[in-house]
Amino acid sequence: MATTSKPKGRPAPSRAPTAPRATVRRYQMFINGKFINAASGKTFNVFDPATEAIIATCPAGGPADVDRAAKAAKTAFYAVWRGTTAQDRGRLLFRLAERVRARRSELAELETRNSGKPIIEAEYDMDDTATCFEYYGGLATKINGDVLPVPAVAVALAMREPVGVAGQIIPWNYPLLMAAWKVGPALAAGCTVVLKPAEQTPLSILALAEDFEAVGLPPGVVNIVTGDGPGAGAPLVTHPDVRKIAFTGSADVGRLIMRSAADQLKRVSLELGGKSPNIFFSDADFENAVDGALFGVFINQGEVCSAGSRVLVQRDIYKRFVDATVAKAKTITVGNGMDRTTKMGPLVSADQRDRVVSYLKIGAREAKLAVGGGVPKAHPRGWYVEPTIFYDVDNSARIAQEEIFGPVMSIIPFKDEADAIRLANATPYGLAAAVWTRDIFRAFRVVRELEAGIIWVNHMQPTMVEAPWGGYKASGFGRELGRWGVEEYLETKQVFINLDEKPIGWY
Ligand code: NAP
Ligand code: MG
Repeated sequence: MATTSKPKGRPAPSRAPTAPRATVRRYQMFINGKFINAASGKTFNVFDPATEAIIATCPAGGPADVDRAAKAAKTAFYAVWRGTTAQDRGRLLFRLAERVRARRSELAELETRNSGKPIIEAEYDMDDTATCFEYYGGLATKINGDVLPVPAVAVALAMREPVGVAGQIIPWNYPLLMAAWKVGPALAAGCTVVLKPAEQTPLSILALAEDFEAVGLPPGVVNIVTGDGPGAGAPLVTHPDVRKIAFTGSADVGRLIMRSAADQLKRVSLELGGKSPNIFFSDADFENAVDGALFGVFINQGEVCSAGSRVLVQRDIYKRFVDATVAKAKTITVGNGMDRTTKMGPLVSADQRDRVVSYLKIGAREAKLAVGGGVPKAHPRGWYVEPTIFYDVDNSARIAQEEIFGPVMSIIPFKDEADAIRLANATPYGLAAAVWTRDIFRAFRVVRELEAGIIWVNHMQPTMVEAPWGGYKASGFGRELGRWGVEEYLETKQVFINLDEKPIGWY
């Protein structure tokens, strides 16, 4: 996968002749407690995927801006944040959560206008964002070390300390929520942050930054550098003051980041998406199963790292299951996310739409198309793609192996439990998996065999801030959320305090 093209100074290619006019707001990035322009003075355009209109401009950050942000974060770390008590760091996160809750409608609307997702989903994202800040606000005071039972007249300790400046690079599918997943644990741990949002969706985190001063965040503790991957992301990864990089996005960029972080032996954690199996045994509750298959891959237009894009169905129910799933998929309302009846919005960008459409063409050659397969006729403007289902898909097909990151389901039949496990694990990825069955013995057997970091039984996609999130295999490493999330931002210091009056006595 290549990185996306960079629409700069002109609208992205659209199939409609001209994009409608909208009020274009000029945003600035947030460095050392101030909203500022890029050192170069350059900006890039931000779009509404439902209308293709330019809705904002943002500073095109480059190495000079990253340097400024990293230095501010380093100064804030040593001068202020490292010495701020855990209670105060926690309270600050609670206040940030309160601001998200108070601004729920406004932030959700901004998220929908910028990312395309249905407004109802954006509102849930805001709730999850606030909950994430609350969780890490509470956890801030529970980060503690250990006293170790060493065989010596000594007290041995494992102390926990913040890593320092954290560089965080996030994608466009859950813009504010992904920021919270990274900023929350970093602040709880005592780290300071330079965050680079995806160039497509920088608006919600910049809007929240308006509240940073009011909630008591000292300047430099959280800095937001807008810009594209090569311009702003790459210099963040190699900046000598940045001690750790947390990245969520494509596997290709993940590899690149790991390579460039190697020179400075910088810590890296990667969340790289997947090709997650959603497994349906014939004894599963049929109605729930059909809903689970659809929800697993069509939520957020399929732009979900844990999308259940490979639907594995036992042969005894295969035909009935395909028919019912296709029938229900036809009822999904596709439209502008701002409309509260919309169940699926447009994809985030023209590039992403084109990428998904290219996979629809591949799928048409590789498998049987049941529904969708193109751009909806009702929406000639906006970056829409129809909810699409391919069936009789071979697990080795490209549409079953490559992350499409769009509303495309591949249904694959299987014979028995062993067959299901073999197919489920036959992927380079290992982020998530779901298994649907009423047989508790089978459920646990399958759970034990699946090579993935997140397993759901009789559900798909519920994401709990208390529970670890991250992948096996090519889905990356490191864990977000829960107490695991904070570990990524902590160092461990061994301390040995001798209590023996004559400890050595060797010479
Ligand atoms: P991407 O390129 O991996 O982007 C993720 C983030 O990394 C963005 O902030 C991006 O910046 C940044 N980035 C890009 N190149 C970089 C570099 N050389 N150094 C540092 N940072 C860099 O993902 P995408 O292009 O937006 O989407 C492509 C595909 O990635 C999707 O179709 C999907 O398969 C996958 N994806 C997965 C997830 C996930 O949650 N696992 C999320 C998004 C995308 P800019 O985008 O601003 O250039
Ligand atoms: Mg990109």
